Amino acid sequence: MKSLLPLLILCLTGSHCFPAHLETKQQDLEIVQNYLEKFYDLKTEGVRIAKKKGSSPVVEKLKKMQKFFGLKVTGKPDDETLKVMKQPRCGVPDVSQFAITEGNPKWEKKDLTYSIENYTPDLAKEDVDNAIRKAFKVWSDVSPLTFTKISQGEADIKISFNYGDHNDNSPFDGPNGILAHAFQPGPHIGGDAHFDEDENWTKDHRNYNLYRVAAHEFGHSLGLGHSSDIGALMFPSYAFSDPNDIQLSQDDIDGIQAIYGPSDNVIQPTGPTTPQACDRKLTFDAATTFRGEKMFFKDRFYLRKSPYDSEAEVNFISLFWPSLPHGIEAAHEVAEKDIVRFFKGNKYWVIRGLDVLPGYPKNIHNTFGFPKTVQKIDAAFSDEYTGKTYFFVQNKYWRYDEQRRSMDADFPKLITNDFPGIGSKVDAVFSDNEFIYFFRGTRQYKFEPQKKRVVAVLKSNSWFNCGRY
Ligand SMILES: [Zn+2]
Ligand SMILES: [Zn+2]
Repeated sequence: MKSLLPLLILCLTGSHCFPAHLETKQQDLEIVQNYLEKFYDLKTEGVRIAKKKGSSPVVEKLKKMQKFFGLKVTGKPDDETLKVMKQPRCGVPDVSQFAITEGNPKWEKKDLTYSIENYTPDLAKEDVDNAIRKAFKVWSDVSPLTFTKISQGEADIKISFNYGDHNDNSPFDGPNGILAHAFQPGPHIGGDAHFDEDENWTKDHRNYNLYRVAAHEFGHSLGLGHSSDIGALMFPSYAFSDPNDIQLSQDDIDGIQAIYGPSDNVIQPTGPTTPQACDRKLTFDAATTFRGEKMFFKDRFYLRKSPYDSEAEVNFISLFWPSLPHGIEAAHEVAEKDIVRFFKGNKYWVIRGLDVLPGYPKNIHNTFGFPKTVQKIDAAFSDEYTGKTYFFVQNKYWRYDEQRRSMDADFPKLITNDFPGIGSKVDAVFSDNEFIYFFRGTRQYKFEPQKKRVVAVLKSNSWFNCGRY
């Protein structure tokens, strides 16, 4: 019989932002060693790493880990790396010799059964049943698999809540840390999913949402490993988006369908893809300056030039501002007020730093005086010298006075009249150092307002260090 690898899960946002300075202490080295042993198949056989430079297997594994998480590959336990290592996460290894030599275990049937062996006291029984049923549905919706709950006989996938050491060689670790684990498909314990009863299980946004964790775990129960795509449900850290709106990414769908084939639905399901900063087809929904940085928005994600690295950082908008919606359509900073406004449809939100200000969203018609015919804003920027904010809507633009808090007279005007050369519509815009940068599709227009002319046409992702292509 094959030995079965426990696949564990997860959780916590990969917050790559606002690093705090940490010294590399012996304690940190131990964190690194433990982490790499658990998740990257580092074999030290009990020998502690010395605090010296370039000691090979550790450096190599560390580089693998950094690459997997999209961190700067330094081979050193820098602040960002330690931060990721200290987050609760899935206990399933990201790199494991066994996973490779074992092949790709899968269920040899499409109709699977599950049982719930015991219940957590954290939730009502029916809430647990619901979370588990919904978590299976995430996978049955995109594959030919079906899942049926049974209460008699041995189910393929047995679900239980356990404390600490529960006799499967993969003890839980108390609150946080490892939240759950699941085993690859196979007989007996194969496919089973265990949840750490030392966690507080919830059905809402508080940690840890059972549905969210279970949906990830069941991916392992079906034979999937971890993905390095941060937008994937199978990413090893628990990226916190709306737990009641869990969406498989295209990466997850491709993964499950590679094992079990396409869904039986006539129309094949698709999922969102995670934007890649250096994708030459990259377009933006919105862009803005933010306290001296530039931020770009696409679907559920923001992209920004990382302050400590030449490579772009891509992460969930919800990591910074959990209550903002996906698919922001326009954003602009009013530096003088230290705020950024985000627009979607006829609503807008105001943030200051990491806080979404109370009382939002509000309606754009009431605040700015747009006519009812305006149902969404395409792009916006503020000119900090004049205190004017420009709103782009279809082929027209409005100008709003931040001091007087009203729209200037004689607007809207045609974009082509006052911003010649940028085309008649705008996806995103920001102003920086007396230039205005307009985005339309994969193009970016650097515009000099004094002379009313385009001075350069660039790729949309020119702000990221993508090299030549
Ligand atoms: Zn996992
Ligand atoms: Zn277990």
